[in-house]
Amino acid sequence: MKIIMLGAPGAGKGTQAKQIAEKYSVPHISTGDIFRANIKNGTELGKKAKAYMDQGLLVPDELTCDLVVDRISQADAVNGYVLDGFPRTIPQAEALTSALASRGEKIDFAIDVEVPDENIISRMSGRRACLSCGATYHVEFNPPAKEGICDVCGSRLVLRDDDKPETVQKRLDVYHAQTQPLIDYYKDAGVLRTVDGTQDIQKVFQDIAEILG
Ligand code: ADP
Ligand code: ADP
Ligand code: ZN
Repeated sequence: MKIIMLGAPGAGKGTQAKQIAEKYSVPHISTGDIFRANIKNGTELGKKAKAYMDQGLLVPDELTCDLVVDRISQADAVNGYVLDGFPRTIPQAEALTSALASRGEKIDFAIDVEVPDENIISRMSGRRACLSCGATYHVEFNPPAKEGICDVCGSRLVLRDDDKPETVQKRLDVYHAQTQPLIDYYKDAGVLRTVDGTQDIQKVFQDIAEILG
C-alpha cells in the first residue's frame, strides 16, 4: 500500500502517518524528519536544508526528490510506505510519478487532511517534537505522559524553531502557493481521499482506516 499524506503544516499528517504505518506494517517516511536528522548530525545536506527551513521556505526540489526516490527503493519499502511531507510541489509529484511508473507502480491513496488556517496557528504553538525519534505531541490535545519528555524514547521535547507563529504564517503561505495544487493533481489521478482533520485524533484515524480498508 503506497500512501501520500497531504495537508497544511500542522494538519496532523505525521500523527496519522505513524498510526497508519503501524496498522499496515509499512514504513513512515517523513522528509521533515530526514532533514532534521541531517541537521542534528551536521551533514552537508542538513546545512543546506536548515537555511530554507528556518525561513519557512521549502528545501529545493533538487535536494529532495532523489533522496525520496532512494528511500522508497530500500528493502523495507517493498510492500509500500506512508509518505509524509512529500511531495510538496508539482515538480516533486511529477518526479515521484515518473520514478514509480518506470517500475510499473503507482500511488494507491493520497489522503488530504483538511484543517482551516485558523486552527493551525494554535496547533503549532502547542506542538512539542522529539528530535530523536520524530514523535510529536501537543501540550493540550495529545500530551506526553510526563511533561516535556518523549513517551517513546525518553528524550527531551522541544518547540521547533519553525513552529514559532511568525514562521508558521510563512509556511501556510508557502503551503497555499506551492503544495495545495497537489490536491487537484491527485484528484485527476483518481486517488484523492479527503478527511476532516478538525476531529479528534482517533476519529480522524478511524476515517482514514475506513478509506484504506
Ligand atoms: P510540517 O508537516 O509541520 O509542515 P515538516 O516536518 O513536514 O513540517 O517540514 C518541515 C520543513 O522541512 C518544511 O517547512 C520545509 O522547509 C522542509 N521540507 C520538508 N519536506 C519537504 C519537501 N518535500 N520539499 C521541500 N521542503 C521540505
Ligand atoms: P503535520 O505532520 O501535518 O505537520 P502533526 O501530526 O505534527 O502535523 O500535528 C501538529 C500538531 O497538532 C501536533 O502538536 C499534534 O499533536 C496536534 N494534532 C494532530 N492531530 C490533531 C487533532 N486531530 N486534533 C488536535 N490536535 C492534533
Ligand atoms: Zn522520542
